[in-house]
Amino acid sequence: MNAANPLLDNWQTPFGIAPFAHIRAAHFSPAYAVAITSHLAELDTIASSVEPPSFQNTIAAFDSAGGLFERVDRVFENLTASESSSELQAVEREMAAPIAAHLNQIYTNEKLFARIDAVHAQLQRTHPQQAALTSKNSEQTRLVERLYLDFVRAGAKLDAKSKVRYGDIMQRLAELNTRFSQNVLRDESSYQLRLIDSADTAGLPDFVLAAARQAAAERGFNNGYLITLSRSHIAPFLTFSSRRDLREAAFKAWLLRGEFHDGGNGDSEKDNKCVATSIITLRLEQAQLHGYTNYADYALHDTMAGTQAAVLTLLNTVWPRAAARARIEASDLQATATALDDNITVQPWDWFYYAEKIRQARFDFDEALVKPYFSLERMTEAAFDCATKLFGITFTLRPEIEAYHADVKAYEVKNAEGKPIALFLHDNFARANKRGGAWMNAYRLQSRIDGEVLPIIVNNNNFAKGAIGEPTLLSFDDARTLFHEFGHGLHGMLSNVHYKRLSGTSVLRDFVELPSQLFEHWLSEPAVLKKHARHIVTNEAIPDALIQKMQNARTFNQGFDAATFCASALLDIKLHGLTNVDGLDLAAFEREQLAAIDMPQQIYMRHRLPHFSHLFASAGYAAAYYVYLWAEVLDADAYDAFTEAGDPFDEATSQRLLQFIYSSGGILPPMQAYAAFRGRAPTIEPMLKKKGLAA
Ligand SMILES: [Zn+2]
Repeated sequence: MNAANPLLDNWQTPFGIAPFAHIRAAHFSPAYAVAITSHLAELDTIASSVEPPSFQNTIAAFDSAGGLFERVDRVFENLTASESSSELQAVEREMAAPIAAHLNQIYTNEKLFARIDAVHAQLQRTHPQQAALTSKNSEQTRLVERLYLDFVRAGAKLDAKSKVRYGDIMQRLAELNTRFSQNVLRDESSYQLRLIDSADTAGLPDFVLAAARQAAAERGFNNGYLITLSRSHIAPFLTFSSRRDLREAAFKAWLLRGEFHDGGNGDSEKDNKCVATSIITLRLEQAQLHGYTNYADYALHDTMAGTQAAVLTLLNTVWPRAAARARIEASDLQATATALDDNITVQPWDWFYYAEKIRQARFDFDEALVKPYFSLERMTEAAFDCATKLFGITFTLRPEIEAYHADVKAYEVKNAEGKPIALFLHDNFARANKRGGAWMNAYRLQSRIDGEVLPIIVNNNNFAKGAIGEPTLLSFDDARTLFHEFGHGLHGMLSNVHYKRLSGTSVLRDFVELPSQLFEHWLSEPAVLKKHARHIVTNEAIPDALIQKMQNARTFNQGFDAATFCASALLDIKLHGLTNVDGLDLAAFEREQLAAIDMPQQIYMRHRLPHFSHLFASAGYAAAYYVYLWAEVLDADAYDAFTEAGDPFDEATSQRLLQFIYSSGGILPPMQAYAAFRGRAPTIEPMLKKKGLAA
């Protein structure tokens, strides 16, 4: 072990896993410095080569470069998410700017881009059409196109003057994104609904009260309860509070996040209507510099959907069905309110409340009854078993392989021939120093460019660990999360490509949730539940009646869900599709668009524009909120292939799924990959059926 800095060492560990026990926070900054210098030197060698630009000396060389940087960066990124510390957080603050500068330096390197551009131009001349589906040639073609696009979309083709303006725009956008999310946070944390006596807390169950009491204590109130506008407070309050006047007050504040602080009077820094308008204006200019007439076209160019028309076709198909379904649900809610002698006309702040009453009456199953069938151990076995049945791979626990925390389990993954293909780390429990939510990541990507490199994949969950000596029991939702992340994990583990840039989950934004959402379907298969959902004490299989109840509940409230989603997605694409934003009045735009789609009065946008952080806290989901629905179309249609084959583990279907989806990374254009798996383009009907929105 390199005593000076283990991050820079050659790791003589099983699978080359990072020597976590030897790594300290203080090792990262110096390791980054060395890694960045060596990466830049590698790129300089490529850029200043006297050889004419070729695939090997430019494209493949670029893909191969930066190995040390990536190794250090992946360990750092994973540890700060899964096992952080104040020391690591300090390094995070220190390194944010140098890492961003490093990436910027790569994509603005003109000599380097000139060579990539030259190889791309040669390819355009010799390969106007995509090469055959599975040839290595096509993988090379795809890599050239991918790298070229990475550089172009970062502004590499702009002239010198435009580059300066582009840099200014991107920097100003970063400031505005931060401002936008801070304004939302300000409104969420500053709002306080105090509940003092039992009349104020009517209807609230113990778990809501406990959280509300803690919120009050944290803010220095020594009596009563406090409801804030954080989602984990407001949603249960609206669901359970029988005080309609308080629901209305809280709901209206919730809807005004991002603008209510100063009465929405148009302060350019404090009012998110102004901040968002500035962002929209700069994004339009950004798109125009790239030669597009609007931002949506620029953003959608690098997606599977490809065009606004494709996105609008999807949304305009779902919207009328969702709205119609939501109207039926609304009359159901109204009937429930009337039956309860509540003399009201249902308004948006009543939706959660009456929906919960219907849910309890029609679909309720006691969580306490369900959980004993869903132990973490059993559900992990279930996920592994499904992967074995589908893809022939097996998982062997390797207890001697040490990860970064004693609770993280390491599994060796082998293919049907018994050859190791990956190392899988399963990090399941919530910890104070771990980020919330669930996610998949890689410590190392699969590739073959510098010899056989096996992937090291991690799944993070945040399950509450069972008491000492007790098993950890999951809710059905938790189990679904485990399957979802494992689906992403398989996408990384089964990757079978040559180049790093095309490895595993390096696919387009509206394709990446297909392997994860698809894998969730196997958890709902009765055969899988009967085999693996077994009672923790009696080992008895889950009763059919309970499975039936869980399945019945699946289409409940889906009209509301789809309609609130669609309204937000439609406004996103229309707003980013504007070709002229002079004098844009965001509030008027929102009103007019909702009127144009005849929004039912009992529902509302899932995210109104002044707090639509997906769109404005970063560019990540700008003109891309539709991707969640897009992926649902794909996963429902893909699973139907197994239903049609009459077997959830049909061999021919799973072979195609492995070849074209789970192992092919980004080597095929996504629509081509999908069609190769399914034998045709995806259709929307299975998703509509799954949501109960089919005709
Ligand atoms: Zn996901």
